[in-house]
Amino acid sequence: MLDALRTEASSCTRCALSKTRTQVVFGNGHPNADLMFVGEAPGFHEDQQGIPFVGQAGKLLDRLLAGIGLTRADVYVANTLKCRPPGNRDPLPEEKHQCEPWLFRQIELIKPKVVATLGNHATKQLTGKETGITRIHGQPQQAVYGSTTVTIFPLYHPAAALYTPAMLKVLEEDFAKLPALLDQEVEPIPSLADLIVEPQPEPVAVQLGLF
Ligand code: URA
Repeated sequence: MLDALRTEASSCTRCALSKTRTQVVFGNGHPNADLMFVGEAPGFHEDQQGIPFVGQAGKLLDRLLAGIGLTRADVYVANTLKCRPPGNRDPLPEEKHQCEPWLFRQIELIKPKVVATLGNHATKQLTGKETGITRIHGQPQQAVYGSTTVTIFPLYHPAAALYTPAMLKVLEEDFAKLPALLDQEVEPIPSLADLIVEPQPEPVAVQLGLF
């Protein structure tokens, strides 16, 4: 299923980035991972190799994963944008809007327990809120995508942490919370339909006016 989605995405022309990309960087890792990471967008090396997080930020991600006993093969890694913005500029709202269905369908197919959002773009997109990463990093929250309930866990972006030692320390501390989060059961968020209390029919004796 995920492979079929990858094939479909590989010829995507929903936005203008399709004209400048070398290839679509769909995502990689375990197709049923409990832990999924979502970064911002492919950079130069990712665009060349077709794999997310292969540059310096990716090396830091690998190191952080090793710190909690995991490798890339245990997790799934993707981005909010599947194609590289020229010159690594920030994703445009229209690009994010057009690309979003690929990400949501990835989450629905992988069904991870925890989606760690790396940096502001992924965090805002997957929480649907404007609260910035500085305020909500390290604070898990629940979200529903289609039929899948996941825990969103906002983290600083490894590329930002590479240049700011204080941020790296916080990223390492937040990362250390992941094993416990992965052990937790994700409680499904009740849908509105589940919250509606069906009116109970009155007992026959009441209907007959006996009470
Ligand atoms: N590489 C990616 O694939 N995504 C990022 O957000 C940064 C580097």
